[in-house]
Amino acid sequence: MNWRKELLHILRTPPLLEEPMSRHTSIGIGGPAECLVFPETRTELRNVLILVKQFKLPFFVLGSGTNLLVRDGGIKGVVLSLSSLCSNYDFVDRTVIAGAAVSLPVLARKSLERGLRGLEFAVGIPGSLGGALYMNAGAYGSSIGKLVQEVEIMDYEGNLSLRPRKELEFSYRRSTFQEEKVIILGGVLQLTPGDRAELKSLVQKNHRERRSRQPSLPSAGSVFRNPTGLAAGKLIDEVGAKGLTAGGAMVSPEHANFIVNAGDATASEVLDLIELIRKKVRSERKIDLELEIKIVGENSRE
Ligand SMILES: Cc1cc2nc3c(=O)[nH]c(=O)nc-3n(C[C@H](O)[C@H](O)[C@H](O)COP(=O)(O)OP(=O)(O)OC[C@H]3O[C@@H](n4cnc5c(N)ncnc54)[C@H](O)[C@@H]3O)c2cc1C
Repeated sequence: MNWRKELLHILRTPPLLEEPMSRHTSIGIGGPAECLVFPETRTELRNVLILVKQFKLPFFVLGSGTNLLVRDGGIKGVVLSLSSLCSNYDFVDRTVIAGAAVSLPVLARKSLERGLRGLEFAVGIPGSLGGALYMNAGAYGSSIGKLVQEVEIMDYEGNLSLRPRKELEFSYRRSTFQEEKVIILGGVLQLTPGDRAELKSLVQKNHRERRSRQPSLPSAGSVFRNPTGLAAGKLIDEVGAKGLTAGGAMVSPEHANFIVNAGDATASEVLDLIELIRKKVRSERKIDLELEIKIVGENSRE
């Protein structure tokens, strides 16, 4: 039995086969996903998970692809997009209830329009709510984890559950979800009343600052985690790696912790730069840089 044919029976939206992941990542790089699925209901999602288990298929959950490097050989098995299932949001009193596929900057802007404080740090963080919860995305000393009231998940067996705040742990770019095999379906964020004008000017200030220090070329966000008490970008700059290139990939001249796609870069070129940076920082500063971006997929397809 062919699992791809089976998927056609399970899903209303036909899966995309051999879909270039360069179309689904902010850096615009990545080989093909063997099968990219867009379930429209929870039942469809559960049936996909049953099939994944039955055929022992590799499985990957995609958000908006803004912290992701997909290797040139692409991703085998099933890649899940929640964009047809978890794209709604609603404000109830001082909370926002939102699906995992909702854009974080949209949620942040809508909160500000309502005079609700909490998400102002997130206006410039591209990506989905699900990706932000998984990564505990943050900026300016705030992060999404601090706002979480509860998160709805489905485990890989298809079981749904609501995880209250007290069961969840968030720290610098880490969340409970990174230790578990779960799909984040959505969450409830607690906001507080604020002054619209004050929030607006804070957001404008953050935006200006971001524009001046972040690259304009496509990237996957910060490549490395900041070592305790240090800024990865500053370290990379100090070892002279700013502006280095490998093919079409370049260490951003604007912010050294970003690698940009300066034109037709491949994942292997980005990986070469990552290794080069690591070697330089290790030999000159005796520090092992840890990755923040998630790297997935195969180097090549047999
Ligand atoms: C220009 C630029 C600026 C950025 N600035 C910041 C910043 O200031 N602060 C910051 O924290 N980040 C920043 N980022 C990184 C990125 O935007 C965040 O990490 C974002 O939260 C990732 O969300 P995503 O939906 O794109 O996730 P993806 O990149 O698609 O996925 C990231 C990880 O989350 C997992 N995941 C995604 N959705 C789900 C889900 N529903 N269920 C389970 N797992 C899931 C994926 O499997 C993957 O492991 C920046 C990126 C760019 C390109």
